[in-house]
Amino acid sequence: MATYVVLMGAPGAGKGTQAKKLENKLGLPQVATGDLFRYNQKHETELGKLARTYIDKGQLVPDNVTVAMVRARLIQPDCAQGVILDGFPRNTNQAEALEGLLAEFHSTIKVVPYIHVSQDELVKRLLKRAEIEGRSDDNEETIRTRMKVYAEQTQPLLDYYQDKGLLVEVNGEQDIDKVFQQLLEVVSK
Ligand code: AMP
Repeated sequence: MATYVVLMGAPGAGKGTQAKKLENKLGLPQVATGDLFRYNQKHETELGKLARTYIDKGQLVPDNVTVAMVRARLIQPDCAQGVILDGFPRNTNQAEALEGLLAEFHSTIKVVPYIHVSQDELVKRLLKRAEIEGRSDDNEETIRTRMKVYAEQTQPLLDYYQDKGLLVEVNGEQDIDKVFQQLLEVVSK
Protein backbone atom coordinates (compact mmCIF):
# COMPACT_ATOMS: atom_id res chain seq x y z
CA MET A 1 0.00 0.00 0.00
CA ALA A 2 1.14 3.55 -0.72
CA THR A 3 2.58 5.56 2.18
CA TYR A 4 0.76 8.81 2.95
CA VAL A 5 2.38 10.88 5.69
CA VAL A 6 0.83 14.13 6.94
CA LEU A 7 3.49 16.35 8.49
CA MET A 8 1.98 18.75 11.03
CA GLY A 9 3.48 21.76 12.78
CA ALA A 10 2.97 25.52 13.09
CA PRO A 11 4.41 27.93 10.52
CA GLY A 12 8.13 28.06 11.32
CA ALA A 13 8.28 24.61 12.95
CA GLY A 14 10.53 23.28 10.19
CA LYS A 15 8.00 21.21 8.24
CA GLY A 16 9.39 22.21 4.86
CA THR A 17 13.00 21.45 5.79
CA GLN A 18 12.10 18.06 7.24
CA ALA A 19 9.69 17.15 4.43
CA LYS A 20 12.51 17.70 1.90
CA LYS A 21 14.88 15.53 3.93
CA LEU A 22 12.25 12.79 4.17
CA GLU A 23 11.65 13.06 0.42
CA ASN A 24 15.36 12.49 -0.27
CA LYS A 25 15.66 9.62 2.16
CA LEU A 26 12.42 7.77 1.46
CA GLY A 27 11.90 8.64 -2.20
CA LEU A 28 8.38 9.87 -1.54
CA PRO A 29 7.61 13.28 -3.07
CA GLN A 30 7.00 16.23 -0.77
CA VAL A 31 3.62 17.76 -1.62
CA ALA A 32 3.65 21.24 -0.09
CA THR A 33 0.54 23.28 -0.83
CA GLY A 34 2.37 26.55 -0.03
CA ASP A 35 5.03 25.67 -2.65
CA LEU A 36 2.38 24.71 -5.20
CA PHE A 37 0.63 28.05 -4.69
CA ARG A 38 3.94 29.97 -4.95
CA TYR A 39 4.78 28.08 -8.17
CA ASN A 40 1.42 29.15 -9.62
CA GLN A 41 1.96 32.74 -8.53
CA LYS A 42 5.37 32.83 -10.15
CA HIS A 43 3.96 31.53 -13.43
CA GLU A 44 0.99 33.88 -13.14
CA THR A 45 -1.63 31.18 -13.62
CA GLU A 46 -5.27 31.91 -12.77
CA LEU A 47 -4.87 29.75 -9.67
CA GLY A 48 -1.79 31.75 -8.70
CA LYS A 49 -3.58 35.08 -9.07
CA LEU A 50 -6.48 33.90 -6.98
CA ALA A 51 -4.24 32.41 -4.29
CA ARG A 52 -2.15 35.59 -3.98
CA THR A 53 -5.05 37.61 -2.57
CA TYR A 54 -5.30 35.18 0.35
CA ILE A 55 -1.63 34.35 0.85
CA ASP A 56 -0.51 37.98 1.09
CA LYS A 57 -3.00 38.47 3.91
CA GLY A 58 -1.99 35.27 5.68
CA GLN A 59 -5.43 33.73 5.15
CA LEU A 60 -6.24 30.26 3.88
CA VAL A 61 -6.98 29.84 0.19
CA PRO A 62 -10.56 28.47 -0.13
CA ASP A 63 -10.85 24.73 0.49
CA ASN A 64 -12.40 23.81 -2.86
CA VAL A 65 -9.46 25.41 -4.73
CA THR A 66 -6.87 23.87 -2.43
CA VAL A 67 -8.36 20.38 -2.47
CA ALA A 68 -8.65 20.39 -6.28
CA MET A 69 -4.98 21.40 -6.54
CA VAL A 70 -3.92 18.61 -4.14
CA ARG A 71 -6.01 16.05 -6.00
CA ALA A 72 -4.40 17.05 -9.32
CA ARG A 73 -0.99 16.53 -7.71
CA LEU A 74 -1.74 13.21 -6.00
CA ILE A 75 -2.93 11.54 -9.21
CA GLN A 76 0.44 12.19 -10.87
CA PRO A 77 2.41 8.97 -11.48
CA ASP A 78 5.30 10.01 -9.21
CA CYS A 79 2.86 10.06 -6.25
CA ALA A 80 1.71 6.47 -6.77
CA GLN A 81 3.83 5.11 -3.89
CA GLY A 82 2.61 7.85 -1.55
CA VAL A 83 3.72 11.34 -0.53
CA ILE A 84 4.82 13.52 2.35
CA LEU A 85 2.07 16.13 2.78
CA ASP A 86 3.38 19.45 4.05
CA GLY A 87 0.91 22.24 4.85
CA PHE A 88 -2.18 20.21 3.98
CA PRO A 89 -4.68 19.62 5.49
CA ARG A 90 -5.00 22.89 7.42
CA ASN A 91 -8.57 22.50 8.74
CA THR A 92 -11.04 19.69 9.42
CA ASN A 93 -12.86 20.20 6.15
CA GLN A 94 -9.61 19.61 4.26
CA ALA A 95 -8.80 16.63 6.48
CA GLU A 96 -12.12 15.02 5.55
CA ALA A 97 -11.55 15.81 1.89
CA LEU A 98 -8.14 14.14 2.12
CA GLU A 99 -9.70 10.98 3.51
CA GLY A 100 -12.10 10.99 0.56
CA LEU A 101 -9.21 11.37 -1.88
CA LEU A 102 -7.20 8.58 -0.30
CA ALA A 103 -10.27 6.35 -0.30
CA GLU A 104 -10.36 6.88 -4.09
CA PHE A 105 -6.84 5.43 -4.15
CA HIS A 106 -7.90 2.61 -1.75
CA SER A 107 -5.53 3.98 0.84
CA THR A 108 -5.33 5.78 4.20
CA ILE A 109 -2.95 8.02 6.14
CA LYS A 110 -0.10 6.03 7.66
CA VAL A 111 0.98 8.47 10.37
CA VAL A 112 0.80 12.16 11.34
CA PRO A 113 4.12 13.32 12.84
CA TYR A 114 3.70 16.63 14.68
CA ILE A 115 6.78 18.84 14.99
CA HIS A 116 6.25 20.80 18.18
CA VAL A 117 7.94 24.19 18.69
CA SER A 118 7.05 26.80 21.33
CA GLN A 119 5.27 30.01 20.32
CA ASP A 120 8.20 32.34 21.21
CA GLU A 121 10.65 30.28 19.17
CA LEU A 122 8.24 30.20 16.19
CA VAL A 123 7.93 33.99 16.00
CA LYS A 124 11.72 34.35 16.25
CA ARG A 125 12.25 31.87 13.41
CA LEU A 126 9.65 33.43 11.12
CA LEU A 127 11.06 36.94 11.52
CA LYS A 128 14.54 35.62 10.79
CA ARG A 129 13.28 33.78 7.69
CA ALA A 130 11.63 37.02 6.54
CA GLU A 131 15.07 38.69 6.51
CA ILE A 132 16.75 35.83 4.66
CA GLU A 133 14.17 34.69 2.08
CA GLY A 134 12.10 37.81 1.60
CA ARG A 135 8.85 35.85 1.22
CA SER A 136 6.08 38.38 0.63
CA ASP A 137 3.99 36.85 3.42
CA ASP A 138 6.76 36.94 6.04
CA ASN A 139 6.07 40.43 7.41
CA GLU A 140 5.04 40.95 11.00
CA GLU A 141 1.35 41.57 10.41
CA THR A 142 0.91 38.58 8.09
CA ILE A 143 2.86 36.36 10.45
CA ARG A 144 0.46 37.33 13.21
CA THR A 145 -2.56 36.46 11.03
CA ARG A 146 -0.98 33.15 10.02
CA MET A 147 -0.42 32.29 13.68
CA LYS A 148 -4.05 33.14 14.45
CA VAL A 149 -5.35 31.10 11.51
CA TYR A 150 -3.14 28.23 12.64
CA ALA A 151 -4.42 28.38 16.23
CA GLU A 152 -8.08 28.63 15.20
CA GLN A 153 -8.26 26.32 12.19
CA THR A 154 -5.26 24.01 12.07
CA GLN A 155 -4.55 23.27 15.73
CA PRO A 156 -7.89 21.45 16.18
CA LEU A 157 -6.53 18.91 13.69
CA LEU A 158 -4.06 17.75 16.34
CA ASP A 159 -6.97 16.44 18.42
CA TYR A 160 -8.64 15.12 15.29
CA TYR A 161 -5.62 12.96 14.43
CA GLN A 162 -4.90 12.14 18.07
CA ASP A 163 -8.41 10.66 18.31
CA LYS A 164 -7.71 8.54 15.26
CA GLY A 165 -4.49 7.26 16.88
CA LEU A 166 -2.35 8.73 14.10
CA LEU A 167 -0.57 11.62 15.83
CA VAL A 168 3.03 11.26 17.06
CA GLU A 169 4.75 14.30 18.58
CA VAL A 170 8.41 15.11 17.92
CA ASN A 171 10.33 17.88 19.71
CA GLY A 172 11.14 20.45 17.01
CA GLU A 173 13.55 22.46 19.17
CA GLN A 174 16.38 19.96 18.78
CA ASP A 175 18.94 20.28 16.02
CA ILE A 176 17.73 19.57 12.50
CA ASP A 177 19.36 16.13 12.19
CA LYS A 178 18.04 14.95 15.55
CA VAL A 179 14.50 15.98 14.56
CA PHE A 180 15.01 14.20 11.24
CA GLN A 181 16.19 10.95 12.89
CA GLN A 182 13.13 10.91 15.13
CA LEU A 183 10.81 11.62 12.21
CA LEU A 184 12.39 8.76 10.26
CA GLU A 185 11.69 6.40 13.13
CA VAL A 186 8.09 7.56 13.36
CA VAL A 187 7.50 7.23 9.61
CA SER A 188 9.29 3.89 9.24
CA LYS A 189 7.40 2.05 12.00
P1 AMP B 1 3.07 27.73 3.75
O1 AMP B 1 4.16 27.82 2.74
O2 AMP B 1 2.64 26.32 4.03
O3 AMP B 1 3.35 28.51 4.99
O4 AMP B 1 1.77 28.41 3.06
C1 AMP B 1 1.78 29.77 2.67
C2 AMP B 1 0.35 30.24 2.44
O5 AMP B 1 -0.26 29.46 1.41
C3 AMP B 1 -0.59 30.10 3.64
O6 AMP B 1 -0.48 31.18 4.55
C4 AMP B 1 -1.95 30.06 2.94
O7 AMP B 1 -2.35 31.37 2.52
C5 AMP B 1 -1.64 29.25 1.68
N1 AMP B 1 -1.85 27.80 1.94
C6 AMP B 1 -0.91 26.84 2.04
N2 AMP B 1 -1.45 25.64 2.30
C7 AMP B 1 -2.79 25.84 2.37
C8 AMP B 1 -3.90 24.99 2.64
N3 AMP B 1 -3.75 23.69 2.89
N4 AMP B 1 -5.14 25.56 2.62
C9 AMP B 1 -5.31 26.87 2.36
N5 AMP B 1 -4.31 27.74 2.14
C10 AMP B 1 -3.05 27.23 2.13
